[in-house]
Amino acid sequence: MAQGEDFLNPNFTEADRHSDIRPKTIDKFIGQSKVKQKLQVYMQAAMKRGDALDHVLLCGPPGVGKTTLANIIACELAVGITTTSGPILERQGDLAAILTNISPQSVLFVDEIHRINRTVEEILYPALEDYKLDIILGKGPAAKTIRLDLPKFTLIGATTRQGMLSAPLRDRFGVVLFMDYYETEDLVEILKNASQTLNVKITDDGAFEIARRSRGTPRIATRLLKRVRDFAEIKYEGVIDKKVADYSLNLLEIDQLGLDAIDNKILSTVIEKYDGGPVSGDTISISVGEDSDTIYDVYEPYLIKLGFLQRTPRGRVATRLAYNHLKIAYNKKSDGAFAAEQQQLF
Ligand code: ADP
Repeated sequence: MAQGEDFLNPNFTEADRHSDIRPKTIDKFIGQSKVKQKLQVYMQAAMKRGDALDHVLLCGPPGVGKTTLANIIACELAVGITTTSGPILERQGDLAAILTNISPQSVLFVDEIHRINRTVEEILYPALEDYKLDIILGKGPAAKTIRLDLPKFTLIGATTRQGMLSAPLRDRFGVVLFMDYYETEDLVEILKNASQTLNVKITDDGAFEIARRSRGTPRIATRLLKRVRDFAEIKYEGVIDKKVADYSLNLLEIDQLGLDAIDNKILSTVIEKYDGGPVSGDTISISVGEDSDTIYDVYEPYLIKLGFLQRTPRGRVATRLAYNHLKIAYNKKSDGAFAAEQQQLF
């Protein structure tokens, strides 16, 4: 595993064992105020009508709380939740088995729904739209289709790549919510709550230092908190302040923007090997030696958010900010960002 990946890769969930850190109610869920406001109205309206909540699609980078929110929705609606994920639903029968056991008005949570295969997806269409399940009995010319009634239920799909969802599937979600990276102040609050649960003292500036290096992602914030807590307990007096956070995060090689060795390798690869770009995401992944899904889901979106990379029709391009960050002279003539800008203009 590449250095630093286990800390900053929110796809890596090994450290999420402290499930008690997860907020259980919507008022304990910090940030994402627009998402929460809309959801509260939709949930109240469904409950008032005694109806199931419409199907919900939660889109956003890994670790921003999609799974947590799905569980909160079920909890607030006082209904059960069944959890599965796109890649493990290999055959139609896998999904059919879940759907035939679903209780009325309950929630079916499908994580990574963009990875569901197309044959499995097909049985979702009538299930979502008409609450019907088509089952094919037998094979060949003698095969018969029987249609089963399903109870009304709510599908909550989570995706890091809404663009990979097929149009017919996307269209069947009545509610589509986009969860963005968190503001530093929100992460500070999340860290303070988590440190209470973990029973560790944290100062305001200590929480701020961890928050600003957490890439706008609660999962990274809570993971870094646990590591900094170790340093605080073993090397210091047990309290996390700015000095302890600084010391620990520097040792973990996470810089003040939350970037690690892989981020810097991506930027230097684009700049030094590909003259600033444009270069494809797959080429970056091979050059850097990092799995392409991790590049697409984790590294690239954050580098784009910081304004270090640009996504253009011909590939990724390093911006002037990226050159400055790596202290490399910015040469407009050979710079891909400039070329790509020109290309987009004409
Ligand atoms: P996702 O499903 O988007 O990958 P998760 O729901 O698994 O993200 O959240 C990752 C971790 O971050 C959880 O353990 C949870 O404790 C924490 N978390 C996420 N969002 C919030 C939030 N808004 N407030 C508090 N903690 C959060």
